[in-house]
Amino acid sequence: MSDEVDVPEDHPRYQSLVTRHRIEDGVEKGITSTQGLIAEGRGEAFDYLLGEETIPSADRAARAAAAHFLLAEHPVISVNGNVAALVPEEVVALAGATGADIEVNLFGRTAERVQAIADHLREHGATEVKGLTADARIPGLSHERAKVDADGIYDADVVLVPLEDGDRAEALGEMGKTEIVIDLNPLSRSARTAAVPIVDNILRALPNVTRHARDLAGSSREELEAIVAEFDRDAALEAAERRLREGALADGE
Ligand code: ATP
Ligand code: MG
Repeated sequence: MSDEVDVPEDHPRYQSLVTRHRIEDGVEKGITSTQGLIAEGRGEAFDYLLGEETIPSADRAARAAAAHFLLAEHPVISVNGNVAALVPEEVVALAGATGADIEVNLFGRTAERVQAIADHLREHGATEVKGLTADARIPGLSHERAKVDADGIYDADVVLVPLEDGDRAEALGEMGKTEIVIDLNPLSRSARTAAVPIVDNILRALPNVTRHARDLAGSSREELEAIVAEFDRDAALEAAERRLREGALADGE
């Protein structure tokens, strides 16, 4: 990411500026849509209110997500334009740590963008990228938005959908999949429909799930199941909302 050198590391908003540059780069490379710029702006506002840090409830969610991944028969990481632009290496690392598939899945699907994202992920170490065949459909969605791979998301039992729109998050939930959502907005429908909502910036959340997955790699099924059972999604959403309303000192965590 050539532009990053222009951002002084001691700038108080360093991370946010780096993020904007990556999204801009993504747009230039045909990976990210212009809609993705808007999603980024929305996310930044929430991150600012959350204090730009991983709150304790988001860390617990990341650990529960890691346990789900390790218990899954067929976990899949869904990748859209923003995810590819922001965290391509981290997607590959999480897939490696958990045996998950990587599938490109776009709201505004075009063959060119799917290909550009798949190439970008391969440049960052991915060996297999799904989402190019798109030979199955998520029921309940219009044609283009419903397309997935039959041996990918369609077949998955656990799906990580970062920065997903609410409709598709709901439709995947209705297919009986365990959905893990990364979304900075605890009020968004995507976060509210997830079995595991991780209310955190994907830049922090994805490496955090990988760290937990590595940490839990030697655990028994019983131990992993206990982590999954203990996780309280409503409490996690409430804690994030409290943080938004009251700030770091008042969230009681
Ligand atoms: P819905 O209520 O249907 O879920 P939405 O507001 O989620 O709608 P979008 O704007 O498409 O619709 O979704 C983008 C989401 O991604 C926003 O909730 C935004 O907060 C979140 N987001 C953007 N950037 C990041 C990021 N870097 N990390 C985590 N979440 C992000
Ligand atoms: Mg959403």
